[in-house]
Amino acid sequence: RNILIILGFSSVIAVIALIAVGLTQNKPLPENVKYGIVLDAGSSHTTLYIYKWPAEKENDTGVVNQIEECQLKGPGISKYAQKLDEIGTYLTECMERARKVIPKSRHQETPVYLGATAGMRLLSEENEQSAYMVLANVTQSLSKYPFNFQGARIITGTEEGAYGWITINYLLGKFTKKLRWFNLMPNENDSQETYGALDLGGASTQITFVPQNQTIESPQNALYFRLYGKDYSVYTHSFLCYGKDQALLQKLAKDIQGTARILKDPCFNYGYNRVMNVSELRDSPCTRKFKTTLPFYMLEIQGTGNFEQCQQSIFKLFNTSHCPYSHCSFNEIFLPPLHGQFGAFSAYYYVMKFLNLTSEESPSEEKVTDTVKEFCSRPWEELKIHFGDVKEKYLSEYCFSGTYILSLLQRGYHFTPDFWKNIHFMGKIQSSDVGWTLGYMLNLTNMIPAEQPLSAPLSHS
Ligand code: AMP
Repeated sequence: RNILIILGFSSVIAVIALIAVGLTQNKPLPENVKYGIVLDAGSSHTTLYIYKWPAEKENDTGVVNQIEECQLKGPGISKYAQKLDEIGTYLTECMERARKVIPKSRHQETPVYLGATAGMRLLSEENEQSAYMVLANVTQSLSKYPFNFQGARIITGTEEGAYGWITINYLLGKFTKKLRWFNLMPNENDSQETYGALDLGGASTQITFVPQNQTIESPQNALYFRLYGKDYSVYTHSFLCYGKDQALLQKLAKDIQGTARILKDPCFNYGYNRVMNVSELRDSPCTRKFKTTLPFYMLEIQGTGNFEQCQQSIFKLFNTSHCPYSHCSFNEIFLPPLHGQFGAFSAYYYVMKFLNLTSEESPSEEKVTDTVKEFCSRPWEELKIHFGDVKEKYLSEYCFSGTYILSLLQRGYHFTPDFWKNIHFMGKIQSSDVGWTLGYMLNLTNMIPAEQPLSAPLSHS
């Protein structure tokens, strides 16, 4: 009887063991994934992005996904030059979020990069020591987290353009050939021609594309890459002071020359009033050429809401009178003839999205013009009621921003009405934001196989 009991008992144990083995065998193995964090320290705000990818597929294209985007509360980091002790707190919320989103076991190996753009380029131009102190404080704060901090630095305009171009083409799958087994006929949409990148920030704007069989006449605008075994000769230029916030300051500084303390401005809606400190104009390195010496401290802007007049005023920011090359954009900067499709992102997208112009693939120039014109003609009181939930600063500037985008593309870069259909306004591709950050991380983590880049303008030191 004892033997029977023992046999019965051991078979129960055997069954439990079998179930346990079965369960563990069915349990998926722990994911072998990697993470990376990039902070985009823009002129008006900082955003933290978290990327995730399968470790064993690092060098495939299109495997990196953005899994988190965290907006830091507060302005751009250059504004912390006068309050260095607040930088730690500024970074805390989003860094804590990263701590939660990324599994603890991966913290140590997760790289963190912070790249600052044109807001910090301007601060550095004004006061190098202040810019250094901001970055030193950012470095000190970010080093305290359990991640693998790789440094905080100001990226150049060339890098910003290059990485934006890499991001967009990586996300569109332009770097690797698609195999179409089931259809040997080439499909126009599958073209492996890369997209150009149009990026608009608050302090600078970038244009980057592969020109058609055209030599890049100015070496400072040329980038040579070998990516996935293919050579690319890329044109890029970053216009400092031509981001939409600095362009607005330039326009105001130009327009108040010799006028009274009230400025009637066609780029703001009728009925809109803004009082601003003259020092805001005077202190920016972007307004220096207008020699803003005003005998008063405050300036009052009164909107008149007139698109044509606004456009005429903005056109004056683009000097196209002289070109030392075969072709120029403006201010004597080389620009080869436009070629191919373009993705327009960041503030290009925010503004077009607000104006309801992003639902179709690429709105015509006529449609964009009509929409901006109509928007500029609406009285401020009406806009406030209609768009009560939109941040007042943005709402008050959509007339200027829309007109500026049109002017920059038409007068600055010479997009013709016909070529306009090649512009695609885009915020995200799949789950990832279009911008320089993903390209930056892909490059610094060696995730884009390139046998031998002809030049190496891209490093993090
Ligand atoms: P940056 O901070 O340099 O990357 O520049 C971003 C630009 O986009 C700034 O001019 C911001 O004011 C602007 N911006 C951000 N979000 C919006 C939005 N929702 N609508 C309009 N402009 C925006």
